[in-house]
Amino acid sequence: MIPLRELKKAVPIIEVARLLNLKIKSKKISCYNKLEHKHGDRHPSLVLQTEKNSYRCMACGEWGSILDLVMQYRGCEFRDSIDWVKKNFPQYGLDRRQGLLAALENAKRVKGKKSLVNPLDSFLDYCGPVWGLGEQYLVRERGLRSEVLDKLDITFFQSSPASLGEVLDDIPRSSVLQPFFGFSGDPFVVYPYRSEGETACLQGRRLGKSEPRFMNTGGDIPSPWNIDITKSLSDGEELWITEGVIDGLSLMSGGIDNVVSIPAAATFKEDWTFDFARFTCVICTDNDIAGKMASDLISAYLLRQGANVKIAHLPSECNDANSLLTS
Ligand SMILES: [Zn+2]
Repeated sequence: MIPLRELKKAVPIIEVARLLNLKIKSKKISCYNKLEHKHGDRHPSLVLQTEKNSYRCMACGEWGSILDLVMQYRGCEFRDSIDWVKKNFPQYGLDRRQGLLAALENAKRVKGKKSLVNPLDSFLDYCGPVWGLGEQYLVRERGLRSEVLDKLDITFFQSSPASLGEVLDDIPRSSVLQPFFGFSGDPFVVYPYRSEGETACLQGRRLGKSEPRFMNTGGDIPSPWNIDITKSLSDGEELWITEGVIDGLSLMSGGIDNVVSIPAAATFKEDWTFDFARFTCVICTDNDIAGKMASDLISAYLLRQGANVKIAHLPSECNDANSLLTS
């Protein structure tokens, strides 16, 4: 007889979930404990943790082994779940010695495959839809449209300090995510920065009272947010440039799609403007001294590249693009 703790590791949880006919979307499935979810788990929150061969729901906290998964989704007893796994996965040779070998072989395989996965994408697997405090902040207070948040893959991480640690433990090469440890305990919104389709950086925006409010994985932001939109634009088309992701999302919520956002002017890099020369750039920075300085700096760079430049003048009562949306 194979000991239970080995049986739990022997069969990959993804394969168990597949055989249970569960719909798996980037390692997430719909939670069985929906009554504990505010929105009935509209976007799946239960993460299959392949390194640990267990699962955890990022919304309600339910967790367990492959045997718990079988019990929950087949509605059966513990004893039956063991029999079901043994009967359906004979290839894992679930006698004691073979089971151990299978577990080792499987661990090796998972490790090898996952080492090719971008740890930033792995982290996004553990993030959920924007709900609770995240929805309060982005949708109610900032007036952003949920469809826009979904489209730009804006996600939300809400969990205890313990589960943030556990998540980072489960992700190979997670050192790039270490800045997020500073967020322990606070829920935070996650803005993915993608370039050429690859996730280049994640910016976390903490919703608790503590400082700092922003943290970026891997230090400086390597390119403006939503830079890939420029690939789909023709020469001469308008490209809006805002300061900060919220202002970018605000323009999009108001129906302007051709938007990139830069972080604060202090970290702006001139080489970002090299690719913008073929557009008519509309600069829409904050309506304050710092914003005007940023606008002057960016337009100087752009003019040097030969781009057409327009400056969006916000009404005096609006501090930024977002306040246009919420006023
Ligand atoms: Zn749940």
